[in-house]
Amino acid sequence: MKTKDWIAIGIGIITVIAGILIWLFLPSAEGKTVEIYRDGTLIEQFPMEAERTYRAVQGDAYNLVVIENGGVRVTEYSCPDGLCAKQGIISHAGEQIVCLPNRLVIRIRESGADAPDAVAQ
Ligand SMILES: [Zn+2]
Repeated sequence: MKTKDWIAIGIGIITVIAGILIWLFLPSAEGKTVEIYRDGTLIEQFPMEAERTYRAVQGDAYNLVVIENGGVRVTEYSCPDGLCAKQGIISHAGEQIVCLPNRLVIRIRESGADAPDAVAQ
């Protein structure tokens, strides 16, 4: 075989190994991440399977974010409209809950997906 062929095989092997390594070290594609933004800045993130509550507090403003049973919702809030709670439970990547008065956004991202674009806003 020509040197060119060996290089092609080498690149092929490296690609496969890199793919396996990425697959091993990245969370499963099934996994989702719950991201909590304030003013477009990521302040917290949790794995979807975390089964936890997070109190997003800033001054007198707060939202209680509940992650359970593969869904995310807001159960307590300080905002006057309560729209964040009325948005109910989100469970799919790309869905979000917005609390305009508290400038809070809760969104679900597919783990391992590209960096969230909300940061750039
Ligand atoms: Zn709200």
